[in-house]
Amino acid sequence: MKQARRLDNAPPYLFVEIEENIKKAQEKGIDVINLGIGDPDLPTPDFVVDKMVEALRNPQYHCYPEYDGCIEFRAAVADYYKRRFHVTLDPETEVVALLGSKEGIAHIFFALVNEGDFTLVPDPQYPVYQLATSLTGGVPYPMPLRKANGYFPDLSVIPGEVVKRSKIIFVNYPNNPTGAVADLDMYQEIVDFAAKNDIVVCNDNAYSEFTYDGVTAPSLLQAEGAKEIAVEFHSLSKSYNMTGWRIGYAVGNREAISKLKKMKNNIDSGVFTAIQVAAIEALKNGDGFVREMREIYLRRRNMAVAQLQKLGWDFETPKGAFYVWVKVPLDMDSKSFSRLLLDKTGVVVAPGSGYGECGEGYFRISLTIKDEKLLEAFERIRHIRY
Ligand SMILES: *Cc1c(COP(=O)(O)O)cnc(C)c1O
Repeated sequence: MKQARRLDNAPPYLFVEIEENIKKAQEKGIDVINLGIGDPDLPTPDFVVDKMVEALRNPQYHCYPEYDGCIEFRAAVADYYKRRFHVTLDPETEVVALLGSKEGIAHIFFALVNEGDFTLVPDPQYPVYQLATSLTGGVPYPMPLRKANGYFPDLSVIPGEVVKRSKIIFVNYPNNPTGAVADLDMYQEIVDFAAKNDIVVCNDNAYSEFTYDGVTAPSLLQAEGAKEIAVEFHSLSKSYNMTGWRIGYAVGNREAISKLKKMKNNIDSGVFTAIQVAAIEALKNGDGFVREMREIYLRRRNMAVAQLQKLGWDFETPKGAFYVWVKVPLDMDSKSFSRLLLDKTGVVVAPGSGYGECGEGYFRISLTIKDEKLLEAFERIRHIRY
């Protein structure tokens, strides 16, 4: 069967490929430790599950949900943004519920980008920004995130012709995969750049709650003038261990939110209301739980850092998210290194090239694994013979 031309541009999703390699290794009898995908290993907190069980019994929630999310959910998001970031949002016009933030991130490109338009996307990056651009027929223009620049894009080197034809500039802090955290000055610089050039600026803030060493992640919407031009994507997946539930939200500029709603209304029919009701509970009463999770990731980060130092491998201690971004220690590309590691030790890491050209030469370790398993992975790696 011939596929649509737009699909020709889309490589297989990175983690689908990794899953296949894992399956093959397991068939060969290899005991796999997966440090590849960033999927929290611990369960959703009981108080959220309990609310879901109760909500499931309410027949009112069994019908089609409201397209944009129920007003109670959107109000809970606004309350959360007020409390957490001191940002005021109008639940009616500046908040929309998403079927996980990945869905909204993909659809904003469909709402704003025409064939031939550019989008400015980070490299390395969560692959969706680039793939969604390609699916719309737009052209992703990678902004290299370099260690020397603190993994922030250098906006001054983007060619004027590209800027002129760009519709969206997308960033992601706290950053997957590098662990970099943006401060408000950096967001201000991007908002000013976007405003000057009439480009919508988006931040993917899925990891806002996971920062370490006294760093707190701001919201892009705290920058002055952000509401004129900015959208922020957020998710319950990472903060409350809810990746399987599929609920997130977009907030910010009302025009951009309204175009995203229009796109979505033609494609999906909203988030199961019972899930929204459980999510409200998480947003309202989840601060203590998030604090505990942050402690757990900090402990694992420190363990991984100590192990990597022992190996003498080149990396930077991440200030945010739950990944460590490490230089490939051998003279080979990142995919070959990941394959080698899997074959010799059963340890899965995510090859940096899956995150963009600038990711080549690196790999990503995820801290979403039990302490013992994390230590065992390093134990196996220490005994590897090349
Ligand atoms: C995990 C992750 C998300 C969250 O995706 P959901 O669809 O909300 O589960 C978004 N952005 C990045 C960078 C992520 O790593």
